[in-house]
This record gives sequence, C-alpha cells and structure tokens, in this order.
Amino acid sequence: MPGSYYAPAGSPLSPFRVSADFAAGLLSDRATLELIASFTTQGHPHAWLMSSGRAAMSVVLHAMRDVRNDAARDEVVIPAYTCYSVPASIERAGLRPRLCDIDPATLSYDEGALARIDFTRVLAITSANLYGLPNALTQLESLARDRGVFLLDDAAQAMGASADQRPAGTFGDAGIYSFDKGKNITTIQGGAIVSRDGALAVALAKHVSALPGAGVIETGMLAAKLLVYSLALRPGMYGLIRRLPGLKLGLTPYELECPNTRLSQALAAVALRQRQRLPLLAAQRAAAADRYRAALGGLPGVRLIAPLPGTTPAWARFPLLVEAPRDRARLLAALDAAGIGATASYPAALIDVPEVAARIRVASEDFAGARHVAAHIVTLPTHPYCPGTLAADVRGIFEQQRGS
Ligand SMILES: *Cc1c(COP(=O)(O)O)cnc(C)c1O
Repeated sequence: MPGSYYAPAGSPLSPFRVSADFAAGLLSDRATLELIASFTTQGHPHAWLMSSGRAAMSVVLHAMRDVRNDAARDEVVIPAYTCYSVPASIERAGLRPRLCDIDPATLSYDEGALARIDFTRVLAITSANLYGLPNALTQLESLARDRGVFLLDDAAQAMGASADQRPAGTFGDAGIYSFDKGKNITTIQGGAIVSRDGALAVALAKHVSALPGAGVIETGMLAAKLLVYSLALRPGMYGLIRRLPGLKLGLTPYELECPNTRLSQALAAVALRQRQRLPLLAAQRAAAADRYRAALGGLPGVRLIAPLPGTTPAWARFPLLVEAPRDRARLLAALDAAGIGATASYPAALIDVPEVAARIRVASEDFAGARHVAAHIVTLPTHPYCPGTLAADVRGIFEQQRGS
C-alpha cells in the first residue's frame, strides 16, 4: 500500500476489544486477579501489577536493599548496552549502575568481563534479554547465588520467551515485565513484578501497597492513547501518524521521571486479553524471525545474533549487526524510505551516556563489545502486521545498498 509503514515494534489491538475490556475492567477486579495469577509460577508465586517497567524495577531494587540492609552494597551490575530506563531506575532507587561488557555475538554478558567484576559492593545483577532473546539465565542465576547477590531478571522485552524450559523473568529472586508501547504486549504504559517466596516478597508487598493506585485522569489518557495506538500501528495509518510533530517516536532519552503507581484494573483487563493471546503473538513474531534468518543469513556484511542454546526467544524485534557503520546509516535510510521501521536501537553504550557515566564508581574496562553493538546494530520489525514478503524486501534493500 503506498504510504504504508511497518512500525519498528508493537502489538496489534482491536479498538473495539480495547474499549470493551477497559469498560469491563472499570467495574470489576476479576481481570486484575487473573492477570496477576497468570504471572505467578511455582518458583515465583508472587506478582504485582505496576504503572511501568521502570517503576517495577525501582520497587524491586528498593525491596532488595531493604532485605540486604547493607548500605555499602549500593551497586547494580547491568549490561553496558541495554535500555536507558535500566540505569534510570537504578538511580531512582538511590543506587549506582556497575557496567559489565556484553558479547556482540549473543548480546548476553561477556563471560570474561563478568568474571572480572568485583562484587564486594554489589547488591544485585540484572539480565536484559534484549529484543526478547534470553540471556544465559541459568548461568546468571548460579553466578548470583555464588557471589551472594540478588538476580533481577529483566524480561521487559522478553515476555513469552524461555530458557531451559523456564519463562524469562522467573530466574533469580525477582523479575519484571513491561507493557510499554514497543514491548511484547501493551497498555501504552504498565508493567509487572514477580518474586520468589520469602523476605523479598514481604518487602515487595510492603513497597507496592505503599504506592498510590492509578489516577482516574491518567487511566483515561492511557485508554485514549491505546485507541489511537490500535489504529496507528496499522501500516496504512502509521505512515501518516509518524510524520506528526511532537510524538517523539523512537527517541531514547535518559529520564528519571516515570509513572509510579499500581496499574489500574481497567488497563489490567486490556493487558489480560493480550496476555492470553501471547502464545499466538509469539509464534507470529517467531515466524517473522525465521523468515529474516532465512533471507538475511549468509549475506556478506551482515551478522545475525544467534539465540543461546536452550532458549526460545520472544523476538520483540529482530536484531542483527551490520559490519560497516557507514553502511548502516545508508541502510536505515533506505529501509525507512521503503516504509520499513528499522532502527539503530539504543544510540550508545551506557558508558557513553553522560548521565550514566556520572554515576559510575569504577569503569576500568573499555566496553568494546557494548560500543560495537551500539555502532552496528539494526533491529527489524516482527509484529503481525509485517507481511510474509517483508524479509525478501529487506534482503533486496540490503543487496542494493551493497551494490551502490
Ligand atoms: C522497556 C524496558 C524497561 C522499562 O520498562 P518501561 O515499561 O518502559 O518503563 C526496562 N528494561 C528493559 C530492558 C526495557 O527494554
């Protein structure tokens, strides 16, 4: 369709279902209870719904600090390339990020760099599971146990993914999920926490119950935005909407402010329907990823990210590395011109984000892996609005760019 555009990421929504679920959710907490129950597992029998993944992360870190009760442990080990919301959540919890380099081949922590980290001031380590590809979660879990620190499994992009037959988000002591705009399911803003039984769950319950409930105006605004989103994600509409000024689509700011309440029961009802449809959505995204792998694997100058053995990714996006950064800029421009929402993901390694660098106590490494990924990564859309032919179109554009 001329003028159509495939958004970089998203979840298709029916405006009618959104309205009906939202209205039903206003009247009953049944969906809230069902959604909470859907996140609990045998290992993580506690779950809470939050107004954002960032709020979820800050609350978990606060609870971890309470339980550890050791003021000297104020560092959180995070990948040197991840969403800027992660160090921002750490700062909001009054803690400091400690960066660890990643392996560009897997986007998981670089094993050598992880082994060199001094854990004496560390409270917790987080996973990232970027684009829905699970990190080496089983290994991270044993590392956290051996070093005596908490593991926060950040599944903000990996709802529906699994590693060694366990859901991403359920490794270690607590996990978080996000329902933001480009995540696996969406309520525009929202998130969830899951936790193991014990002192951490008690502290989490205390922190979450101290938060205000969602505001009426805020909830109404999110409902309105969801209706716009449900229409705007359609390729015929996104081509128009993305040109509107003031939308700030695709920006990655370092922001300390974020909605910090519990999730409204109306939005929980909207999330529940998507959560029930998640296996289907995940299968559609995985099929898109398979098509990209078949079309782009082996292309000169392109390196695909191999999912780790034993993992089933959720493919929130399809990441790959382009060998020459100069080619990447041209490639992104050509994809954009063809109506394909490819992105360069987060623009910098966290060490190169001034707000993050300012809070780091020690940074003895050069973070070559994270910097390489920042300069070379491209993400491609995997949502169900992407037609089966998109991978071949992308391949054609890659080939054309190489030839030009
Ligand atoms: C999006 C994201 C978050 C934060 O979630 P929000 O709901 O956007 O606040 C945390 N970690 C990662 C890896 C993310 O991608």
